[in-house]
Amino acid sequence: MKVVVLTGAGISAESGVPTFRDADGLWEGHRVEDVATPEGFHADPELVHQFYDERRAAVAEVEPNPAHVALAELEQLLGDDLTLVTQNIDDLHERAGSKRVVHMHGELLSALCARCGRRIPWEGPMVGAPPCGSCGKGDLRPDVVWFGEIPYHMDAIIDALVECELFVSIGTSGAVYPAAGFVQQARAFGARTLELNLVPSEGSRFFHEARHGRAGDLVPAWVAALCHP
Ligand SMILES: [Zn+2]
Repeated sequence: MKVVVLTGAGISAESGVPTFRDADGLWEGHRVEDVATPEGFHADPELVHQFYDERRAAVAEVEPNPAHVALAELEQLLGDDLTLVTQNIDDLHERAGSKRVVHMHGELLSALCARCGRRIPWEGPMVGAPPCGSCGKGDLRPDVVWFGEIPYHMDAIIDALVECELFVSIGTSGAVYPAAGFVQQARAFGARTLELNLVPSEGSRFFHEARHGRAGDLVPAWVAALCHP
């Protein structure tokens, strides 16, 4: 069975990664416009580097939770028939054992040269970033998709949505497009659709079925039922 799983901030939140959609609309005390747009980076690159340096360091302090582990087990069972798409920029899926994660919003552990487009694995701070080793001109930026930019890997994601028989959305608010529209695309092409989320998402009504509770409880139970029907 071909399955597409979409994960969002809710699954990382259960590991202790804060999300900017909580409460005050700020992301760790910053306006989203200042730290998550090309304009914000152009206006104050050091502030933006410092912000993502802090996020990168914070993620290194937390651990994958049972939901991440269950999805890694599902990959072992389904192999290429599972497409795991995440909106998260952390590496918790990889640290749980997933090998093929589609990071549609980029990755904290990657730097992107804004000039030549080269990607460089990046674990430390980027403040005062050294020049790009490829073109030598600098302009390294966090390899994350900001508001106003086009998400990565969209062609491959759409292909997977067209082909899948089951689409499962885990820990997503249903508010950020294009990811929020995946359920309707998958459904239009005949997939069954399931939401696993702490509370009904904004798009909850688009799913055939919705289960609400902690991802750390719901996802292992769902994977176990799929593996041992
Ligand atoms: Zn370069």
